Amino acid sequence: MEVIVNSKIAVVTGGSRGIGRCIALRLSKEAKVIITYIKRGEAAEETIKEIHKKGGEAWAYQFDVSSFKQTQDFFKKIIAKFGRVDYLINNAGIARDGLILRMKEEAWDEVLAVNLKGTFNCIKAVAGTMIRQGYGRIVNISSVVAFIGNIGQVNYASSKAGIVGLTKAAAREFAAKGITVNAVAPGFIETEMTTKIPDKIKEQILSQIPLGRFGKPEDVAEVVAFLASDRARYITGQVIHVNGGMYM
Ligand code: NAD
Repeated sequence: MEVIVNSKIAVVTGGSRGIGRCIALRLSKEAKVIITYIKRGEAAEETIKEIHKKGGEAWAYQFDVSSFKQTQDFFKKIIAKFGRVDYLINNAGIARDGLILRMKEEAWDEVLAVNLKGTFNCIKAVAGTMIRQGYGRIVNISSVVAFIGNIGQVNYASSKAGIVGLTKAAAREFAAKGITVNAVAPGFIETEMTTKIPDKIKEQILSQIPLGRFGKPEDVAEVVAFLASDRARYITGQVIHVNGGMYM
């Protein structure tokens, strides 16, 4: 059986399913993992069971990353319980697609609040602890559409482009404190978020991917695990693209 060194504490927001679940499973090889999720029934318990089955340790918490107060309360609770946070993976995200002419104000506000403000909320809530530790690894999940745009996604693309600026500014702010901040920009990854896309559009997207296939959550999780590891200790303020060559 694989030996698990459980010295590190990882928080993966939106770790109940999709890419976040895969990141949580991958990090559970080297850390105790705390996953968060928004709604009951989003498979958080299954993720926990899967990690336990593999010999890892994991806990699940429900809160809304777009709420400053809920985020503060969550981090206070887990820091009191676990004493530290080594890795923060800002993965929670939503899409509310629509053409600009039809997009409701709420669809703009909601996506920016979860994807961009949620990332800020979590970083702010954990920063003091990481500074005291003199150590931290923050990985934010952006998207290829932040770089190439996408029809019907002005809200989503803006939020994911905002994450790039946030990543670089935070990286500069925390560099002297032993904390690295990087982003991963996935391309088209097969998860529940992308199952809703009509087949015709999927075919169009596929024709733009040089590696000839959609990505798997594991393709993203490996890169996140690398950025969280000491092998990536000299990398900060970067965006790593994981998109099969869709954008280069
Ligand atoms: P998903 O919909 O399968 O999972 C999203 C997760 O975020 C869930 O665990 C959910 O509980 C959580 N979440 C949603 N709103 C939340 C809130 N307000 N507070 C707390 N948690 C919340 O999505 P996914 O496809 O696994 O995507 C994960 C991340 O990767 C997202 O940030 C997404 O934008 C990004 N991404 C996905 C793709 C893709 O092709 N799937 C591509 C690029 C980027």
